[in-house]
Amino acid sequence: MINYYLCKYKIKILQLEKNNYLADETTRGNSGVLHGGFDTDRPVEAVLNLKGTNLWKSEILPKFKRIPRININSLILAFGKEEEVEIDKLYQRGIDNKLDPKDLFVIDREEIFRREPNVSKEVTKALLCTSSAAIDPVIATREIARSLENDADILTASEVTKITRKDNKYIVEINNDYEVIAKNVINASGHYTNIISTMADEGSFKLNTKRGEYRVLSIDETKKIHNVLFKVPKIYGKGVIVAPMLDGRTLVGPTAEDGVPIKETSLITQEKFDLIGKIGNKIMPSLDLSKTERIYSGSRSIYVDTNDFHINYGNNKEFINVAGIQSPGLSSSPAIALEVVKLLKNNNIKLIMKNE
Ligand SMILES: Cc1cc2nc3c(=O)[nH]c(=O)nc-3n(C[C@H](O)[C@H](O)[C@H](O)COP(=O)(O)OP(=O)(O)OC[C@H]3O[C@@H](n4cnc5c(N)ncnc54)[C@H](O)[C@@H]3O)c2cc1C
Repeated sequence: MINYYLCKYKIKILQLEKNNYLADETTRGNSGVLHGGFDTDRPVEAVLNLKGTNLWKSEILPKFKRIPRININSLILAFGKEEEVEIDKLYQRGIDNKLDPKDLFVIDREEIFRREPNVSKEVTKALLCTSSAAIDPVIATREIARSLENDADILTASEVTKITRKDNKYIVEINNDYEVIAKNVINASGHYTNIISTMADEGSFKLNTKRGEYRVLSIDETKKIHNVLFKVPKIYGKGVIVAPMLDGRTLVGPTAEDGVPIKETSLITQEKFDLIGKIGNKIMPSLDLSKTERIYSGSRSIYVDTNDFHINYGNNKEFINVAGIQSPGLSSSPAIALEVVKLLKNNNIKLIMKNE
C-alpha cells in the first residue's frame, strides 16, 4: 500500500521482498476484516483504522475490482453482566474514535436472535457495527502490486542483508550478493523491522510476536452465520470470531499467544486447535467443528514500548520505520501509507504528482 501511494509521485521506487511471493507472512495469516474502528483504544491505531477503512471503501476497492470483498456487519457478543459492561465501553470507544453513530448500535437479545438465530442462547447483549467489511488480503496485495508494474520495480526473493549509510545515501545489500543505492529507505518488514533498523544503525526497539491460530470449516457450516461474530475482546486480542469467509467456508479463530519465536509464527498447535473449537462452540453451539478442513496461523507484530503502530523516522529522517503493525493493520494500511508520505514531505522531499 505504501508503494501504491508513493507511485502517485515522480520518484523511483524499488520494493524488496525476501520471500518468493508478496503477502506470504502476516498479511496471509489474518481474518481479513476491515474493522469499523470501534475497538482500539491505542491513539495512532484509532485514527488510522477509521481513515484506512474509509479509504479502502472509497478509493481502493472501487479501483481494484478483482479484490474479493463483502460488506458484512460485525456483532460483538456479551455473555452475562460482566461482558455487557464491555459492550457499553466499546460503544463509547467507537463514538470517541469518531465512528458515525449511524453505524454503531447496542442491541438486545430479541434483535440478536432475529439477526443470528443460531448464536448461543447465553448471549445477553451485543454491539452491532455496520461499517465493517471483509477482503482477501493476499489477492489485494498482489492486485495492487500488479497495477504498479510500470511505476515501480518489485523484486521478490530479494532479502535485504545489510544496510550502510555513506554520503547521505543508503547502500542496501541484497541476498549477500549485490547492492542498490537509495536516498530513502522505508522499513516495513513486519516481524523483522527491528532487525533491519538495527542493521542500518537507525535505532533499535523491542518487538514482540502474538500468534493467532485458525480453523477453517466446511461450506456446510456457513449457512448458519450471517455476521462476523466476535466474542467480547478479552484475553484473545480482538476476540475470537466465527465468520463466513469469502470462499464460502467458515473461519473460527484466532487465538493470541505472546512471545513465540519468529520462526514459529505460522505454527499450529493441538492445544490452540482444541481451544478454538471450544470458543467456536461457546459462540455457536451447533457449529460442527469436526468439519474443519484447513488450519492456518499468523502473528501480529507488537511494538512493545507503546503497544501501538510506530510510524516514524529512524536516527536519520531519510529512514522511516513502519513497525508494530498489529491488527487492525490491514484496515489501516492505506492510512499508514499516507503517514509515510507525510513523513517524506516533512523532510523536505520534493514529491511531485505524476499528473502535474
Ligand atoms: C491473527 C491475526 C489476525 C488479524 N486480523 C486482522 C483483521 O481482521 N483486520 C486487520 O485490519 N488486521 C488484521 N491483522 C493485522 C494484519 O494482518 C497486519 O497488520 C498486516 O498484515 C501487517 O502487514 P505488514 O506488511 O506490516 O507485515 P507482513 O505482512 O509481515 O510483511 C512484511 C514483509 O517484509 C518482508 N521482509 C522481512 N524481512 C525482510 C528482509 N530482510 N528483506 C526483504 N523483505 C523482508 C517479509 O517477508 C514480509 O513479506 C491480523 C493479524 C493477525 C496475526
